[in-house]
Amino acid sequence: MKKCIVIGGGFAGLTSAVYLTKAGYNVELIEASSKLGGRAYSFLDKNTNTIIDNGQHILMGCYDETLKFIKLIKAEDNFHFQKRLRVIFLKPNFETLVLKSSLVFYPLNLLIGLLNYKAITFIERIKLLRFILMLPFFSKKKLERMNVSEWINRGHQNENIIKAFWGIIAVGALNTNIEKASARVFADILKKIFLRGNSSATIVLPAYGLSESYCNHAEKFIEENKGKVILSETIQSFEIENEKVKGITTSNRKITDFDFIISTVPKYALEKILPDAVDKLNIHYSSIISVHIWLKENPFSEPFYGLIDSAVHWIFNHGTHITVVISDANELVEKSKEEIYDIVMHEIEKYTKMKRELVDQYKIIKEKRATFIPSNDIIKNRPSSRTKLMNLFLAGDWTDTSLPSTIESAVKSGRIAAENIIATVVN
Ligand SMILES: Cc1cc2nc3c(=O)[nH]c(=O)nc-3n(C[C@H](O)[C@H](O)[C@H](O)COP(=O)(O)OP(=O)(O)OC[C@H]3O[C@@H](n4cnc5c(N)ncnc54)[C@H](O)[C@@H]3O)c2cc1C
Repeated sequence: MKKCIVIGGGFAGLTSAVYLTKAGYNVELIEASSKLGGRAYSFLDKNTNTIIDNGQHILMGCYDETLKFIKLIKAEDNFHFQKRLRVIFLKPNFETLVLKSSLVFYPLNLLIGLLNYKAITFIERIKLLRFILMLPFFSKKKLERMNVSEWINRGHQNENIIKAFWGIIAVGALNTNIEKASARVFADILKKIFLRGNSSATIVLPAYGLSESYCNHAEKFIEENKGKVILSETIQSFEIENEKVKGITTSNRKITDFDFIISTVPKYALEKILPDAVDKLNIHYSSIISVHIWLKENPFSEPFYGLIDSAVHWIFNHGTHITVVISDANELVEKSKEEIYDIVMHEIEKYTKMKRELVDQYKIIKEKRATFIPSNDIIKNRPSSRTKLMNLFLAGDWTDTSLPSTIESAVKSGRIAAENIIATVVN
């Protein structure tokens, strides 16, 4: 039985290990941290005795790879699936606007939903709809030379449409602003969301903490299929001979009995193990700040809200507490926790009826390198799964999946790396 070492236990590493163990490989997954999940995990907050995520994660109905993975590890019941798209947006002074697909059949349901989105004028809705219907006809080559802002401006999308629609979708899907993101990546995502059927635009949310929702199930699947998951062990270096990795040095031992390796660690972590692994790529990162706020009384009734034209992007309602998400947060991330809390409360009081007096406790989590910024430069230079070392394969959301830095990209990369190994053995 061929043996594969998988480095990293985030979505990419867990997916590789699940597909390889399913195919009968002897897999050892090695994770540096004391828990699985990478950038998507949950933990017990001791002050409040609540399980919270390091940051709220949203999946979408168009996350084909992720939904297939979740089904495979039998974790489907741990997620809430919207039947139809429904998002409540807030403007200042408690103005509430609904974006929802109507009851009629696809694609009319989405079209009617957009036409009823009253955050913008009727003429603006027609312009928006026209732009969305044009999506299949934009030249890919031209899109690769533009950022999102240049592209949508050329498509006659005015400031109001950008604030109430494009800005929110871009920051949600790409965690960056429309000036930095590649128009090509954004167009690809929009086609997946809006032009592929009824459920693609729906939101899927974990029903429990992230670790309970998928990490435990993935670990169980790997172990039931005779794989091993090892925590708190860091890969430090590779020994290379004749274009192959011959040995791996970890914080605990030296490993030589393997046929293949999949590295799923982020680029900055891979550089420590293999300094010249991917030299052409200059990745910039975007931060996400999550503010978990426990309430004496919860005034929110919806599961989540999007805020139009605010420093705060989303509010997720977990009953006893809410999670406020600031995406694209590089400008705020160095501020003190008190300053960030002040900004958040200022926005919440401006947009909702909630007052500071309702707050019992709060906790701020800053993820400085939450996602990479999908600029045109990066998109062109992402490495593929195969490397010049015959037995080393790469995965991770940053590798070449054509997707932005998301769970879906991580899962897709993990599946591709596993399939490349299986194909190598078969051939
Ligand atoms: C706050 C936040 C919110 C987000 N929201 C969303 C969202 O709503 N929707 C969405 O789709 N995506 C979201 N993302 C992005 C998503 O979390 C990532 O794209 C995805 O988790 C990346 O998975 P990965 O396996 O590629 O990498 P990682 O999760 O980074 O996993 C890599 C693993 O490798 C381990 N490692 C590193 N070095 C070593 C070493 N030397 N030896 C052994 N192990 C090592 C790390 O500890 C880590 O566990 C969000 C990210 C953050 C931080």
